Amino acid sequence: MKVKVVKFGGSSLADAEHFKQVANIIKADSQRRYVVPSAPGKRFKEDIKVTDMLYECYEKIRNHESIDEIYAKISDRYNSIIAGLGLDFDISGELEYVKSAMMHRSGRDFAASRGEYLNSLILAKYLKFDFVDAENVIYFKDNGTLDEEKTNEAMREELMQHKNAVIPGFYGVMPNGTIKTFSRGGSDITGSIVARALDADLYENWTDVSGFLMADPRMIENPCPIKTITYRELRELSYMGATVLHEDAIFPVKNAKIPINIRNTNRPQDPGTMIVAENKNDFDAEKIITGIAGRKGFSVITIEKDMMNSEVGYGRKVLEVLEDNEISFEHLPSGIDNMSVVIESAVLDGRRDKVLTSINRAVHADSITIEDGLALIAIVGLGMVKYKGAAARVFNAISAAGINIRMIDQGSSELSIIVGVEEHDFEKAVCAIYNEFVK
Ligand code: ASP
Repeated sequence: MKVKVVKFGGSSLADAEHFKQVANIIKADSQRRYVVPSAPGKRFKEDIKVTDMLYECYEKIRNHESIDEIYAKISDRYNSIIAGLGLDFDISGELEYVKSAMMHRSGRDFAASRGEYLNSLILAKYLKFDFVDAENVIYFKDNGTLDEEKTNEAMREELMQHKNAVIPGFYGVMPNGTIKTFSRGGSDITGSIVARALDADLYENWTDVSGFLMADPRMIENPCPIKTITYRELRELSYMGATVLHEDAIFPVKNAKIPINIRNTNRPQDPGTMIVAENKNDFDAEKIITGIAGRKGFSVITIEKDMMNSEVGYGRKVLEVLEDNEISFEHLPSGIDNMSVVIESAVLDGRRDKVLTSINRAVHADSITIEDGLALIAIVGLGMVKYKGAAARVFNAISAAGINIRMIDQGSSELSIIVGVEEHDFEKAVCAIYNEFVK
């Protein structure tokens, strides 16, 4: 029998009505056997996610403030879900235990993880599925990274004993027994780990949008949906700002080539986006690019020195300064006697002078300048590898819109072209590229 792992995000489990939709989706397909829930998310725009309230509890306890009021709100969220579902389930003991464990300093991650834990208890009861606690099947190493081998083995062994199960997202356990969470939005990673351990046929990730769009709808009106995208293309798009799936959720399933299907809980009839290892239809002449994404907030450090190109070790010395300062760089567009390093501006905060002085000391440059206000745009598409003139069309479209290109970087894989423009030209440049390829 085929196995599907299904993960539901916080907005899909924000209240009883959404729980009902989720149950309908799960019950509509008997292959949907393993379920990974998030904590209750926002019910409306101004609402607060349970995870955020739990973080607040932690902060209050640290500041010796009372959490009674905020914890009552958290309890309310769960109690009203249970009441709305008409479930015969008394969660008060669990709620009390969690509160008292938090008061006894069980850590920030423990506090945050209880959002998923409690939601999973309710969902398991409602679906009549078994509950399998993530702390018994997801293991981290001492350095905080996932212990893949141990996790895969424990997860597989445990889940094979359950025809159906609910496994809370977002957290696992450290070697010393304390709870550790992934970064925010990390239930996506849990879903992927479960799918990998079970060698599932499909990982369905249910959220509140019908998959990825070719561009940001805040900039492009009604952008086309992306039907199919490869893991590699998606990696490029999410790195540049397309946020639907946690960017680390791809790694566990990638080698096992398990496809991920992004689906919309509020519109289950929509096919969503399929994320696959290889896209068989990628060379459709109509569809040269798969998507466009971008971000503002980058700086360029430009280092110039005569005869730089003949000086061995120049680049290494510059990068060593960054490494010593624990700064990662994004791109390295270089000329003959100059090199530029593109860095996220925020990471330079408070240490600009130090970094520039250290670079100068390391390489004795003729000049070093730093410019802020760069936006990067990634045009991503496997189709560009085969298609002649894709880059020319990108640059023409941008220049026809009267925009100056500050930087160009095309990786040798030709999977993406990255262009840098002034931040105030960002939206206009994205529109120009979209219109060139899609409209
Ligand atoms: N509840 C966690 C968060 O809000 C994890 C998740 O939803 O995936 O970040």
